[in-house]
Amino acid sequence: MRVALVCVGDELLAGDTVNTNATWLGSQLRDRGVDVERVTVVPDRIADIARVVNEYRADYDAVVVTGGLGPTHDDLTMEGVAAAVGVPVEEHDEAVEWIAEHTDYSRADLVEGTTNLPKGSRMLPNEVGVAPGCVIEGIYVLPGVPEEMKAMFDEVASEFSGEYRHTTTVEADEPESALIDRLAELRERFDVTVGSYPGDHVQLKLQSTDEDELEFTVSPASSSSPTAVRPVAHR
Ligand code: ATP
Ligand code: MG
Repeated sequence: MRVALVCVGDELLAGDTVNTNATWLGSQLRDRGVDVERVTVVPDRIADIARVVNEYRADYDAVVVTGGLGPTHDDLTMEGVAAAVGVPVEEHDEAVEWIAEHTDYSRADLVEGTTNLPKGSRMLPNEVGVAPGCVIEGIYVLPGVPEEMKAMFDEVASEFSGEYRHTTTVEADEPESALIDRLAELRERFDVTVGSYPGDHVQLKLQSTDEDELEFTVSPASSSSPTAVRPVAHR
């Protein structure tokens, strides 16, 4: 399954808030074998949200959108997603009922717009906060507040799946430039993907759906294995 993430928020673009939602979702989805192929941050603007969501829903199996829920002036995500799908937003009866039953807010207390969702969407209750999320046509709309987002994602996590890719990270003693030929050979001979990340030591992240193949790739028995490597992590 291939997924795109869209994170909504002027504060993310300005560098005021670190996009921890993308990091957390990326690792959760990866652990489920899902390929996250895009992370895009867009401003709190309906047209921008609609354009990106519309493009990604055509290209990916699912789109996960975070942030900009609720009734304040900069909460425009539901409007943007509705525009992408070509439906209006409207008060969602189930959302109103859920909030009345599960929170201290009565319908009269709720700021208008709190329970507005794209017409025809499935409501996702907000177990930690108030503003609900929703799912419509493979677009999952989750809150921006990290704790709320995580709780809501957990409820739909089983809808995301793929082939698990085992990962081994090793640290090499040589500079990246010295590894080029061996890494090229390694990629040719084995069914693995290789990420090379320079730092104090080059970290090589090798991934494969076949765990045995992955282990052999980094074992000394494999002639093209990067020499002098130390295992850092395996999962
Ligand atoms: P609320 O219903 O409270 O308005 P929301 O779902 O509309 O929440 P936002 O208003 O977009 O979410 O953001 C709420 C808080 O969560 C802000 O402090 C914001 O900085 C933080 N936040 C939003 N997006 C992210 C993100 N991608 N990573 C980390 N924090 C985020
Ligand atoms: Mg908000």
